[in-house]
Amino acid sequence: MKLYDGIISDTLNAFNSFGDDKVKIYPYEGSSWKDNGSSEFIMQRDVALELGSGGQPSVNYTLVTTSGIVDKDEILVYGADINEIKGDVAFARVVVLETEDLEEDKDQEKAFAAIRNLEFVRYHVFPKGYMVRVSARSNQEQIRISEGAFANGITFAKVGALYIKKYKEVPGVKNVRIAFITDKELVQKLLPNAEKVDTITKTLTHILDGMPTDCGHCSMKPVCDEVEGMKELHLGKKQK
Ligand code: SF4
Repeated sequence: MKLYDGIISDTLNAFNSFGDDKVKIYPYEGSSWKDNGSSEFIMQRDVALELGSGGQPSVNYTLVTTSGIVDKDEILVYGADINEIKGDVAFARVVVLETEDLEEDKDQEKAFAAIRNLEFVRYHVFPKGYMVRVSARSNQEQIRISEGAFANGITFAKVGALYIKKYKEVPGVKNVRIAFITDKELVQKLLPNAEKVDTITKTLTHILDGMPTDCGHCSMKPVCDEVEGMKELHLGKKQK
């Protein structure tokens, strides 16, 4: 699975620009924070903090690779952690998943279904006192943290562990790296990557819908020229 490797590289470059000495890294050691199992509405009067709202930039995206980049489960925090935040902040959450070979060259539908399954995980994690509002259209993700969760010491490491636990329930997921970003400059650098992920997903959808394989007259050509593995995926499908 090479489709996302270009975006992974851009994402890592952005992370590197932040400075290795400033990033906080937490190994995954299971989750100690409660998952409610279903969404919880936190009313405005019970809110301690909001992330990615109030005009602040916000984004989230998920990347899948089989290249060995993610060799362990870990949570990374770029910028202030929840207990250090004061006032409105930018927010991004980026997940990179190392999976078994999805064999997209053999069965494109199965590989694409696996990618979609992985994307759905983000809608099925419900940390107590941590309300996620996702806009699938704009790739935004805004967070509300309750007074109770704040007082009880919620951190990104605890929230991230719940995400990792959920991802690892999906067959084929080997390792998970989840990054939480509250540094505004870094969040802004990541915004274009989410759009690129969207473009790849849309192109995959079109390919699986059975669009013609005439690259010379195809509106997806700029994407396929740029994204390694996309052309092979489409032209391989035709040959199947
Ligand atoms: S491989 Fe060619 S025909 Fe298929 S989506 Fe890409 S540019 Fe279009």
